[in-house]
Amino acid sequence: MVEVYLFFLGLVVMEPITYLSHRYIFHGFGVPLHRSHHSSHNRREGQKKLIHNFAPKSNGWELNDFYPGISALITMSVIALGIFVPSLKYLISFGFGITAYGLLYFLIHDIVVHGRIPFFRIKKNIFSWHYHSHRIHHLFGGEPYGLLFPIVPSALKKRYHQLTLKNSSHE
Ligand SMILES: [Zn+2]
Ligand SMILES: [Zn+2]
Repeated sequence: MVEVYLFFLGLVVMEPITYLSHRYIFHGFGVPLHRSHHSSHNRREGQKKLIHNFAPKSNGWELNDFYPGISALITMSVIALGIFVPSLKYLISFGFGITAYGLLYFLIHDIVVHGRIPFFRIKKNIFSWHYHSHRIHHLFGGEPYGLLFPIVPSALKKRYHQLTLKNSSHE
């Protein structure tokens, strides 16, 4: 039973860890790599163009893909430790929880929001909370840094709605 708890602990604890790494590493000293993910939605392109080009089809790999690669290596090491060191066996369930988070992140962020797998489309309206919240992150380059449980400050929500309205009335 404790394995089930550890699995969910691994799953849940990853959201604050992702928030903190995204905020303080990716948008901190790690920004040279993360910029590649934001560049196609750069503010310099102008906000009108930006709002329509928010989720372009992927042109292949981004430098930013280094981060999920590193996370996968760390997670595999955690699981391997659990397999090879008997006293650390609980790390296996914990590691699977982290893996489940990674898969959900990939599904929502890469497939649903950014449409990186062209032949695999999932309706955005199922994940509209995630879609619009992450769009706000790309538009203004700040909050929300979380992905699965994005919390958007109301001032940003307002700015976003105004911008969306303005853009749709121009068409
Ligand atoms: Zn970012
Ligand atoms: Zn993104």
